Amino acid sequence: MDHFLYRDGILHAEDVAIPDIAATIGTPFYVYSTATLTRHFRLFDEALDGLPHLVCYAMKAASNLAILKTLGDLGAGMDVVSGGEYARAKAAGIPGDRIVFSGVGKTRIEMREALVGGIRQFNVESEPELQALNEVALSLGTKAPIAIRVNPDVDARTHAKIATGKSENKFGIPISRARAVYAEAAALPGIRVMGIDVHIGSQLTDLAPYRAAFEKVGELTDQLRADGHEISRLDLGGGLGIPYTQGNAAPPLPLEYGNLIKEVLGDKGCEIEIEPGRLVVGNAGLLVSSVIYAKSGEDRDFLILDAAMNDLLRPAMYDAHHDIVPVVEPVPGVDRIAYDVVGPVCESGDTFARGRPLPRLSPEDLVAFRSAGAYGAVMASEYNSRPLVPEILVNGDQFAVIRARPSFDEMLNRDTIPSWL
Ligand SMILES: *Cc1c(COP(=O)(O)O)cnc(C)c1O
Repeated sequence: MDHFLYRDGILHAEDVAIPDIAATIGTPFYVYSTATLTRHFRLFDEALDGLPHLVCYAMKAASNLAILKTLGDLGAGMDVVSGGEYARAKAAGIPGDRIVFSGVGKTRIEMREALVGGIRQFNVESEPELQALNEVALSLGTKAPIAIRVNPDVDARTHAKIATGKSENKFGIPISRARAVYAEAAALPGIRVMGIDVHIGSQLTDLAPYRAAFEKVGELTDQLRADGHEISRLDLGGGLGIPYTQGNAAPPLPLEYGNLIKEVLGDKGCEIEIEPGRLVVGNAGLLVSSVIYAKSGEDRDFLILDAAMNDLLRPAMYDAHHDIVPVVEPVPGVDRIAYDVVGPVCESGDTFARGRPLPRLSPEDLVAFRSAGAYGAVMASEYNSRPLVPEILVNGDQFAVIRARPSFDEMLNRDTIPSWL
């Protein structure tokens, strides 16, 4: 459920009419709903009621400071995967003890920054990383709190590019090697073992892979404790899917996911961490765009928008589906045209949808891509020298530009012409 509804025939974000935002800032732009963000964060938080827990929002899904602050003020922790994300979390006021650092390629510089600035835990993904972290911590005279990300070798049954929990994926250490690596970690003076981490993929629409992974984590918890390790935290990753198509079979609810965690791992006496990204922000954001042209091809009709693959990469990168809706509500029963919906970028891959039934649209009509809040703005680029897409946050009847569209001058001034030219 979200807060993007038609009111008097016009699509609104909460109490703000989308055309009012478009008139102020121009298109394309992303718009997020505070009420939806809040609701989705709370669904996770409440799903773990009764267990000590921390919901660490995986900010790679959408990392605007205003979004981070909105969630941080609700008590969210953050899951970060780079020094830049760590800096964003701190800038949004998230205390270090609520920041978890994930990722397969943390550099020593990133480790140092997090240790100095404060960190809840590093989720370590390899033995070389463990050794590097130990050295960095010792050079600072401290101990780095860690969980080790284990790869449970379960099939998340999701898109290949976002599955992470099979043995062929680059993530984590094989669960079969876990006891050896925990023993290695325990012997390092700059390392403090706190728990176990697992994250099997993204856009999971079925709880069965989670059950399989959590059961393996439960067994490993018992084994590691028997080996003498203190396991006080279990980080269970993110990955719960969202419905990208209205009316399709719905993915599991956070409550069902929470109940599964309680059922499988609730008796371990561990603090539970989860790292949802997509489900917190995915349906809390729209990408709004204008029609530039409607053009008739030989055997099809094209709708050419002012948004392109550089603004929303998911269709080009993952063949992802986004519902596209006119901002002016279609009259019931109106004739629909099967449009190929495309952007202006000079690549055939710049196609958002093929044969998508939409009412006849004309230049300057507004359309909205639904479920665009996650992995939308964060993946945007300036390809074709198209200005980085701006972001808007709505809260009730107010809206604010939370990232402005750069001017051409700002874009050009980032380049430098060397003295020899
Ligand atoms: C991407 C990622 C997440 C979030 O995944 P979602 O599918 O957005 O919930 C959580 N943890 C880690 C380690 C990730 O890489």
